[in-house]
Amino acid sequence: MEDASPNTCEHREVELLSPWELIRKYTCVACGGVLTCSCDAVLATRVLRHQALTGTDSYSAARVAVTHPLTPNVCDDCRGLPPKPFPRSEQRGATTKIHRYYWRELWTESHLRFLQWCDDEGISTVDDAGKSLVLWLEHQQHKDQMKQIEREVLAEIKQLHATHPKYVYDEPSDADVLKANGVRVTDAKAAYLTPTRDRVLVLPLGVTDQTQAQSVEEFVATRLRADGREVMFCESLPFQALYGCLMYLWVQDPADPLIRPAGVSREGQGGTDGQLIWTLLPADYGRQAHADRRQAELEAHLDFIGSTTDDLLWAFDYWLEYSRPLRQYLWAYSAEDEQRARTIIGVLGVERVKTILRWLAESYWDRYVGWPDLLTWHETPDGPRGVLFVEVKSSSDRLSDDQKTWIEGNRETLGFDFEIVKVNRTLRMQVTE
Ligand SMILES: [Zn+2]
Ligand SMILES: [Zn+2]
Repeated sequence: MEDASPNTCEHREVELLSPWELIRKYTCVACGGVLTCSCDAVLATRVLRHQALTGTDSYSAARVAVTHPLTPNVCDDCRGLPPKPFPRSEQRGATTKIHRYYWRELWTESHLRFLQWCDDEGISTVDDAGKSLVLWLEHQQHKDQMKQIEREVLAEIKQLHATHPKYVYDEPSDADVLKANGVRVTDAKAAYLTPTRDRVLVLPLGVTDQTQAQSVEEFVATRLRADGREVMFCESLPFQALYGCLMYLWVQDPADPLIRPAGVSREGQGGTDGQLIWTLLPADYGRQAHADRRQAELEAHLDFIGSTTDDLLWAFDYWLEYSRPLRQYLWAYSAEDEQRARTIIGVLGVERVKTILRWLAESYWDRYVGWPDLLTWHETPDGPRGVLFVEVKSSSDRLSDDQKTWIEGNRETLGFDFEIVKVNRTLRMQVTE
């Protein structure tokens, strides 16, 4: 039997705590120790000392202390294992595939080279008290040098990827995602005004009066209304308001052992006037761990909020003010978003709203964005019929990662009728002014 005491353990099998930290931490399956790899020694001791001593579990958001710093042969590279890609999402400022896949390599190599340059130039990277000056040197004193190094490293990694790729870019294309999820794509034709200013403006074919130019979303909404449909401009904020209001009692339950105070400051109408206010949040809010931990309470809460659409509307109005701190935390506090959330309850009805709330609760931070542009339906004496979500795309638009997540979630769980309307540029029209 393997001796699993921390001091003699060989840490044969380790698991990555979170792929997103610059100094990675690993937990040992045998002894439970938290390790960093000795190959990160320079960065851990000279650049990110605080990050080198604690880690964050990507499942539960729990903070854990490193028990075995700078242990030899911990990471995949040092063990000779094939590196697993962890591409960053486009929303985090990583826009090219090189930046998205090689973000950690770009960071690591640039810092190591900057440190080497400082050593060569005789520039001290610590102050008299022994505190690291590296980040200050990089961002202030020698930022041109750092920029230059970053450009060189980027060019080299590009070159390396072209000849000996470390990672394979194997993400499905937009067309693959649409096909795999059975998404209907409808084409519409329009004249595009050119040159484009801050946003694309279009006109129906045959219309020459440029004062009637609209965004592609408005263009599609006008066509839907002409078919006798109601249309609400949607996207994600109304769903965040819906969730924040109807779920606040479950999220902020004082009986939850992981509940703790959290500070929020938000601008604008319905916000906190930019002042810091305190509210309660579980430490693992929005993670899968949160819902796993509180699954029984989640189902009980979804029963409790009512069994009819009228129950939900009543609960929504009654809890609107009580839920404001949570909704401020979730950026979902404007009167307009509150009104749209109310419309969503009326149009979708109790069962579909509960499906949405459960889906969001199970992994909020992965799912709270990516909702389609428009919600449309026929108003009939028997209530809303033909409910449809529409995502509008201009000729050049691509799907974001969040939209792909929503499309998959819709096929697997939400089950809404959904289509993409592509507004194709059939004509260019020169802007006259
Ligand atoms: Zn171990
Ligand atoms: Zn290593």
